[in-house]
Amino acid sequence: MTSSILHRIPIQPPIAREAKGIYITLEDGNVFIDACGGALVTAVGHCHPTVIRAIEEQIGKLTFLWSMSVSNSPAEELAKLLVEDSDGAFNAATFYNGGSESVEAAMKVTKQYFFQKNEPQRVKFIARERSYHGDTISTLSLTGGNPYTAPFNDLYDKEHFHRVSAVYPFRNAAKAGGDAAYVASLIRELDDKFQELGPDTVCAFIAEPIAGAGLGIVKAPDGYFEGVRKICDKYGALLIYDEVLCGQGRLGTTHAWQSLGGKDRAVRPDLQTIGKCLGGGYAPIAALLFSQKVSDGIKINGNWLRHGHTYSNHILSCTAALAVQRLIKSENLLENVNAIGPYIEKKLKLSLKDSDLAPFVADIRGGGTLWGIEFSLEFVGKIAGFFPIFCYQENLLAVAVPGTPPNDDLSFSGIGDYTSIAPPFNVSKEEVDMIIEKFSRALRNTLKSLQLL
Ligand code: PMP
Repeated sequence: MTSSILHRIPIQPPIAREAKGIYITLEDGNVFIDACGGALVTAVGHCHPTVIRAIEEQIGKLTFLWSMSVSNSPAEELAKLLVEDSDGAFNAATFYNGGSESVEAAMKVTKQYFFQKNEPQRVKFIARERSYHGDTISTLSLTGGNPYTAPFNDLYDKEHFHRVSAVYPFRNAAKAGGDAAYVASLIRELDDKFQELGPDTVCAFIAEPIAGAGLGIVKAPDGYFEGVRKICDKYGALLIYDEVLCGQGRLGTTHAWQSLGGKDRAVRPDLQTIGKCLGGGYAPIAALLFSQKVSDGIKINGNWLRHGHTYSNHILSCTAALAVQRLIKSENLLENVNAIGPYIEKKLKLSLKDSDLAPFVADIRGGGTLWGIEFSLEFVGKIAGFFPIFCYQENLLAVAVPGTPPNDDLSFSGIGDYTSIAPPFNVSKEEVDMIIEKFSRALRNTLKSLQLL
C-alpha cells in the first residue's frame, strides 16, 4: 500500500495487471472497463500492438539523447507530422513530459518572444476562472487554484496572473439574453481587463478551447474565440490555446478549435499545447506548437529557445506518440470519432434523460469521444464522492468532480458535480452501450445509497 497516499477516493483502488483496448485486467483476474481512458488519455486504447511494436523496436536501438546537443528522428518526424497536419497554423513543435510542463513552456516562450521584441514590460497573463492548466505552482497561479489546492494558495503569483470569467453558457447564456449577448459581455470583460491591467503590460491570454477539468467539457458559444482573437490582436498580446485535454482528435478534428464553427484563420492561436491524446498514455509526452510568428520572433539575431528539460524531446516518448498519431491516420480513427459522437450522445440522453435519472442530470454536453455529464445543482457535493465507488462495483473506471454552489454575490452561477466519458477513438458501439449501461446503473446505485432515489 505504499502509493495509497496518491489516491483520491476513500478505498484502496484495485491493482491492474494488464490491459487491452478499454479492458483492464486486475491482479485477481477481474476485468474492468476504462470509461474515460484514465484522465482522458488513451486515444487508441490500451496496448495496441502497433504502438507496442514501435516502442519495442526503438528500445532495442537507442533510448536517450539530450535534445540540447543532438536531435532524434522520432522527435523530428513527430514535429513534421504535427506541423503538416495543422493546415499552416504551426511551423514548429517541442516536446515535454506532461501537460503542465507544456503550459510552463508556453508561458516562457511568450515572455522570451516579447523580451526579444523589445517589449519586456509585457509580463502579465490573463486566463479564465475555472480553467485547468496544470498542477505546478505557476500553472496554478494562472488558474487561481482549485478546490484541491488550498495548502498552496500563499505561493501563487498574483502580480503576473489575472483572470476573467469562466465561459459557461449552460447556466449563464439565457440570463445574459442569449448566446450572442453572452459572448459580447465576455469579450467586453476581456477588453476591460486589458484596459485595467494596462494593455501594453499583457503578454498573453490563455484558454482551453473546450473547458475540461474545471467545468466538465464546455464549448464556448459561436463567435467567442473570434472575439478573443480580435482583442489579442488589438492589444498586441499572444493568444495561447491549451489543448492538453481536448486536442489531437478527441473532438473529431485534429485541433479542438477547428470544431468550434469559426473560420480557421479568425480563431487560430499563436501558441498551442497538446498532451493527453498525443502519446495516448504510452509514454509521458506533451507538446508546444509554435506559429510562424512566434518561432521567427524567438530565432532573431542568432537566438534560440531559452527553455528545456533533461527529458525534452525524449526519444521513447516521441516514438510512442509518433506511432499513436500514425495509427490514428492509417486507421482513419477520426472518422470513427465523428461517427460515434452522435451515438454516444443519443445513448447518454436515452439512459440519463429519458429515464428515472432525469431529475438528477442537468446537462449532457461535448462531442466526438469527449462527453461531460453535469448533475443537478440541487445535489451539489453529494454525488461526486460516491459515484466512482459505485462505478467500481460495476467494474467501471470513471472520475467525478464535486461542483460548486453559486457564490453569495452570484458572480458565479454554481455548477453541479460532473463526470465524463472519454473512450478511445476506436471504441465500438457495443462498447459504448456497455459503458453507458454500467454508468447508469452506478448512478442509480449512488442515488439509492444517498436515499435520493
Ligand atoms: N492543461 C489542461 C487543459 C489539462 O486538462 C491538464 C491535465 N488535466 C493539464 C494542462 C496538465 O497536464 P498534466 O497533468 O499532464 O501535467
